[in-house]
Amino acid sequence: MPFLEPLLAAAVLAGAMLALLAAGLAGYRLARRRSAPQRSALRIISELTPEGLKRRTPAIADKLARAALTRLWALTDPVMTRQRQLLEQNGELQRRYGQARALIDLMAEFNQVMQPAAVLDRLSFGLSRFFAGDGVAIWIRASQGHFELAVKVAEDFPTSLNPHDRWVATVMAGDAGLLLPFWLDREMPCMAAPLLDAQGQRIGIVALTSRRRPAYTVEDGAFLRTVIGHAAMAIQNATLYQFIDTLSRIDPLTGLHNRREFDRLLQQALAAATQSGQPLSLIMADIDHFKQVNDRFGHQEGDRGLQQMARLIQQVPRRATDASFRIGGEEFAILMGDTDKAGAVDVSETLRGVTEGAKFLPNGEAMTVSLGIATFPADGRDAATLIAMADRALYQAKAGGRNRVVAAA
Ligand code: GH3
Ligand code: MG
Ligand code: MG
Repeated sequence: MPFLEPLLAAAVLAGAMLALLAAGLAGYRLARRRSAPQRSALRIISELTPEGLKRRTPAIADKLARAALTRLWALTDPVMTRQRQLLEQNGELQRRYGQARALIDLMAEFNQVMQPAAVLDRLSFGLSRFFAGDGVAIWIRASQGHFELAVKVAEDFPTSLNPHDRWVATVMAGDAGLLLPFWLDREMPCMAAPLLDAQGQRIGIVALTSRRRPAYTVEDGAFLRTVIGHAAMAIQNATLYQFIDTLSRIDPLTGLHNRREFDRLLQQALAAATQSGQPLSLIMADIDHFKQVNDRFGHQEGDRGLQQMARLIQQVPRRATDASFRIGGEEFAILMGDTDKAGAVDVSETLRGVTEGAKFLPNGEAMTVSLGIATFPADGRDAATLIAMADRALYQAKAGGRNRVVAAA
């Protein structure tokens, strides 16, 4: 039956194809089962996080895959360790950078101020800023050894410290230790160190307290001491500046303001008088025949005479706005704000009288003084004119016989 042959052939082919399909499916299933551990290992690797790497044993049953993963774990271990080290180093560098920045900022601020009190101000605010708003106090050793509160930031601190207190003595000895200060009303971290001047003398105490941190660290203490070291230089510079500034304004023999200060204050007083419309009087005083005092009694007695004269000049004008100056050898000036000519004549007459009455020369003789007055705005509106007018009046007093007062007319 020839027609059966193609049918048979088709059936055989279909059977063969089915068998092939079944074999393929079985092979696929087998391959899938076999590769399951590897795929599981690959999934673990693809989903790996730094946290996952910390779990050292991979959760997988297949031995080979577990061995491969364990090996991978072992290889990444140095990388993870290095990453941890870098993170720590980065934190340390950030901390040091923060300290260096804070120090640079503080030093720049120290350079802007010329008064020791202003340096303490900057120091306390700088420390509070660096330690994120912690309380800061600075006490300075006053007379009788007590420490007076000079500045405080963010917290309340006692206004005075007894040098015999245990905490104070311990801090001043350079070892703040773990001792808590008597004035802390609750358990609060505190760090303190002696404040030094440029010679290393302990001139006070700097203390910090914190409401946020559990404790101050050794590094915090080291930073505080570094800042205090820089503050010492700033305090010395400011003290020196203040000293020189005072010297530059004072006449060393009499302690009165000197000529430079006279020029400065006269300009200032004229500006104030121009603005307020109030009068301003200038008195120039010159000791009579002073050369003879030197000639007869010697230069030292002459100096003593000048000092006596300065004392009288300081005593006679009484108002806070009055200022006295030694503007030359035996020449003095008095600047009287808000004072008209009549008022200046009164003061001049008083000064002339007390000088004559003082009789402080060695042989009991009197020294006398001549005085000239000029008043703003009538006699002049600027410094040069006012000085020239007072000088001219003084010359007239000398020419008129000395020991007298002449006001510019
Ligand atoms: P007159 O009445 O005209 O002012 O005469 P006078 O002698 O006071 O004036 P003169 O200008 O001739 O002399 C001023 C003297 O003051 C001369 C100088 O030796 C003296 N003198 C200036 N400064 C000082 C000082 O610091 N100490 C002393 N002891 N004398 C001084
Ligand atoms: Mg003179
Ligand atoms: Mg004179």
